[in-house]
Amino acid sequence: MSAPTVTSVTEASPAARAGLAVGDELLELNGQVPRDVIDFQQLTDADDLSVLVKRAHSPLPRLVRIAKGPGEPFGVEVSSAVFDRIRTCDNHCAFCFIYQLPKGMRRSLYLKDDDYRLSFLYGNFTTLTRFTELDAERILTERLGPLFVSIHTTDPDLRASMLRNPKGATSLRWLQVLLDGGIEVHGQVVVCPGVNDGAHFEDTMAGIVDQYPALASVGVVPLGVSKFSTEAEMRPHTLAEAEQVLNTVTEWQAICRKAVGRRLVFAADEYYLLAGRPFPSARHYEGFPQHENGIGMAAAFGKAFTRSSSPGPGGVRHGFFAAVDAAPAEGYRAPRLPVQATAARDERPVVILTGEYGARVLKPLVVGHPRDDISIRPVVNDYFGGNIGVAGLLTGEDLARSLAAGAGMDAGIRYLLPDACLNEGRFLDGLTLADLPCPVEVIPSDGGSLRQALNGVSFRSACAA
Ligand code: SF4
Repeated sequence: MSAPTVTSVTEASPAARAGLAVGDELLELNGQVPRDVIDFQQLTDADDLSVLVKRAHSPLPRLVRIAKGPGEPFGVEVSSAVFDRIRTCDNHCAFCFIYQLPKGMRRSLYLKDDDYRLSFLYGNFTTLTRFTELDAERILTERLGPLFVSIHTTDPDLRASMLRNPKGATSLRWLQVLLDGGIEVHGQVVVCPGVNDGAHFEDTMAGIVDQYPALASVGVVPLGVSKFSTEAEMRPHTLAEAEQVLNTVTEWQAICRKAVGRRLVFAADEYYLLAGRPFPSARHYEGFPQHENGIGMAAAFGKAFTRSSSPGPGGVRHGFFAAVDAAPAEGYRAPRLPVQATAARDERPVVILTGEYGARVLKPLVVGHPRDDISIRPVVNDYFGGNIGVAGLLTGEDLARSLAAGAGMDAGIRYLLPDACLNEGRFLDGLTLADLPCPVEVIPSDGGSLRQALNGVSFRSACAA
């Protein structure tokens, strides 16, 4: 157990007025030891607050009374989201992307968490194999939702074999408990060709509608395979397999509309790209419940890009994170990078840097744009290799190579990059914008922001030089 440590104090906040400072450890809040930022948030919501504070180099902790107005935020950020230990995953899925990472990345990226609190806070998926009665009780009592659950298959034996954990056969019973308790839960099925596709996938769709119709949504995503995978049976979909998954999803959407009055299940954008089919309209996605998981992103982006009145759901984050003022997320779903439109104009010709999939989404939008000096540069993901083509997994190394090659760098060109590539100012390989061979302008990864940028609006990010 480690106490929450203050990493920043908001000016003129109750914490600042009480003299709290960066580095202070907050041992107790109103006599209670917070387990995580969920407790922290609830405890610091109290109007009458006493905090036991341990300051570096002070021999003893001291009790500090905090004067707070009703509903006034406490005003500190703390060093982690979970103060007792993060519950790590005890599965060994052959499709796990963490096993497919190269050596030498940031340590936090190798953390296999299976902690419902990170599901609630950041939208991480949990298999519930480490879930307990106490967890269920807390979630139901404190109404901790939405949560995100990895289903993969409703066949108990197949699920145990996919998770390589016998508990995988039974842990979906907790999903039932959560749904029966009225908690909003979103599910996910990662489809691994030759493993849980075909008839298994049909059975999973039937199992979901039969057993878990109260799920808020189910996202169906294709297996991602990097060149570092050591699992021989894990491979990308063929065209026919991708088409089959899309056909099955479409069939079950029709069934779900009749059975539960909504589509319930949605295929990832990647499937439409793999199958070469047009994306459904934005309306199809029923409010984009899994936008952050690559489901409906292209439709939302297109809508926001083409309609100035519609911002779309760009920047939407699941979970509780946006409402928690005490939770940095290094290593999980950290805030990207504060990026803001400025009053400055930049009318130089534009090159949009993005992943290979992003380039296919952007191409029809840019082709119809009145400007004729915009080009898209798809950056090949050599770092991960395999079938990895999403912008969010682009690395600094690949971008630097792309910028230095081909047409090369040109001071007369404005290079735009979506903020989805950066996490707290760093690319996945640890490089920063300063490591790129020429200036690159980061813009928010939504269609409205790209539209603004192409209309000449200049953006500035916190770490821009
Ligand atoms: S449950 Fe998730 S983190 Fe754990 S092994 Fe499987 S894919 Fe990896």
